Amino acid sequence: MMLVNHLVVSLTGWHALSQSGVLPELANVEPWTYSLVALGTALPDIDHPDSTIGSRVKWFSWPIRILFGHRNITHSIVAMTALAYMVNLEPLLISVAFGYLLHLVGDWFTPAGLKLFWPAQRVYRSPLTIPTNSIAEYLFVWGSSALALTALHTA
Ligand SMILES: [Zn+2]
Repeated sequence: MMLVNHLVVSLTGWHALSQSGVLPELANVEPWTYSLVALGTALPDIDHPDSTIGSRVKWFSWPIRILFGHRNITHSIVAMTALAYMVNLEPLLISVAFGYLLHLVGDWFTPAGLKLFWPAQRVYRSPLTIPTNSIAEYLFVWGSSALALTALHTA
């Protein structure tokens, strides 16, 4: 999934979560938390030196790529466990973790899927997958986000 589409999903999701009242502690999130969600959304692809985030920190990105490969450790339960541990230390990181998690959900919808239990090599993907950077990806992401926002604000 393209970063712009990951961002649409995560930022819409963060807005919906905070506005829906499902989690009272997130009812009045500060506007700047959206930038932490965006950071968390970009973070999993730090394992790719040509990704938006990886290209900015190639000195960090290349070693991860060489040691673990793309869409392996950063797209697995290993990374999510580390993130959950950090959220436990600093609750503010919940917005980063939210963006990170929704990136993985987005990649689950791609044909490449996720090695969720890396280093196990089994790939998990949605029964319905959407090719990355296809028209279908843009229609699905922008369409479902528009519907979600419409539903949220007309309820
Ligand atoms: Zn990814």
